[in-house]
Amino acid sequence: MGGVATLDKEEVYDQFKSLEGQLQQMLAQFSDLQTQMTQVFEQNAELEIENQHLRELVRELQKTLPEDPETPQGLSKSRQILEKLYEEGFHVCREFYGTRRKQDEECAFCLEVIYRDQ
Ligand SMILES: [Zn+2]
Repeated sequence: MGGVATLDKEEVYDQFKSLEGQLQQMLAQFSDLQTQMTQVFEQNAELEIENQHLRELVRELQKTLPEDPETPQGLSKSRQILEKLYEEGFHVCREFYGTRRKQDEECAFCLEVIYRDQ
């Protein structure tokens, strides 16, 4: 055996217990993280769908709106698109752009973007 230092049984057992505790903690963290990741993925999927919906809507509007840059109300084409998006229930303001307006609530930021003086 020579002079090699060895751990006694109790020390080994303590280390084993401590490692076991750490492992359990890590497992708990891992499980938390998994739950959070699932939530993030679900949110991403929802946003992806809304984004796609918005892109299609914008493409559709760009095709259907008249080329005339000014409407009788004096809204430019890009503002008409924003107005349509707003009417479809989406925010067009910088604060919440692309997210859905909850229960079609009015948004002062959006109205400002659409109707403020050029
Ligand atoms: Zn808004």
